[in-house]
Amino acid sequence: MSAVLLQGRPESLPQVGFETQRYEEIAFFIHRDLCNVADLKSATFMSSLRKFDFHCHSHFSDGALAPQDLLVLAKERGVELLAITDHDTLKGYSPMLQAQASALGLELINGCEISCQWQRRGIHVVGLNMHLHDPDFALAMQAQGQARLLRAQGITDALQRLGFEVELKQVQTLAGSGMIGRPHFAQHLVESGQMPSMAAAFKRVLGSGKPGDIKANWPSLEDAVAWIVRAGGVAVLAHPLKYRMTLTKLRSLLDDFEQAGGQGLEVITGHQEPNQIRTLTDLALRYGFYASAGSDFHSPGQPWAALGHVQPLPRSCRPVWEHWS
Ligand code: AMP
Ligand code: MN
Ligand code: MN
Ligand code: MN
Repeated sequence: MSAVLLQGRPESLPQVGFETQRYEEIAFFIHRDLCNVADLKSATFMSSLRKFDFHCHSHFSDGALAPQDLLVLAKERGVELLAITDHDTLKGYSPMLQAQASALGLELINGCEISCQWQRRGIHVVGLNMHLHDPDFALAMQAQGQARLLRAQGITDALQRLGFEVELKQVQTLAGSGMIGRPHFAQHLVESGQMPSMAAAFKRVLGSGKPGDIKANWPSLEDAVAWIVRAGGVAVLAHPLKYRMTLTKLRSLLDDFEQAGGQGLEVITGHQEPNQIRTLTDLALRYGFYASAGSDFHSPGQPWAALGHVQPLPRSCRPVWEHWS
């Protein structure tokens, strides 16, 4: 099989992100036989058994909707299993919400998306199905909240130095009782007419490497995964291709993630091209990770991240909910 593939067209092989793949990285894929090539080729035409969306945000972080509204929308979209995964908090989940989900015939799993760092890069790990009353996890989330607040002060200072009109209080009002984040700063800049759009605010001042991208005191990847695992949850690496790493770097991240106790990979996230799904499927199979799927929904009107609009998982993947079902 390897020989046949080696003679095939290289452009049909998995590609990662926006970075050019070196030939030896592609060859790594070719020489490993852990995946069924037929599965990879038809990856996007297969369906998982149950429709699920395990990555979305409510107004407890940077999402627009209340958790109750997410339930209703998910139900409308035919979702059977849902996890609300707000940034660094489990506040979106409650026994009452669980009861509302049950009344709608929806299976609700608790979750959150933890901000952490690996080799000085910001990485997001989704935790699913934790013990809600784990005291260490609660403390960890409290620390994440503090880190966000401190960073928010730093972002405010940075924006003021750039000449923008912004007070922390204004942005805190936008965040309400939710975790404060860069999107709330972007929203303030747009609503006050200082930026034409959220996208422009990120592109010019808040996005990666820009002056408003103040680094928070995020925990290490190892700590973030350990918090989830010790609380009985499953740690899933969120949107693996968003970090714009080479495949070699991504594999290095996955090695460390696995070593730390990570067990899942978001094979489906937002909109992805078939070759990206193949790449992630191959990685999930090779590492023996569960596969997760999530829209990363934040608010209505963003068709690239619409709640419940997740492409089906390739049949060769083990859906992450099998971990506890
Ligand atoms: P934070 O959690 O405060 O670091 O902010 C990260 C969040 O900002 C992500 O979860 C996205 O919701 C949002 N975000 C990141 N990049 C962009 C962008 N270019 N445009 C709009 N929102 C973005
Ligand atoms: Mn977000
Ligand atoms: Mn994320
Ligand atoms: Mn997210």
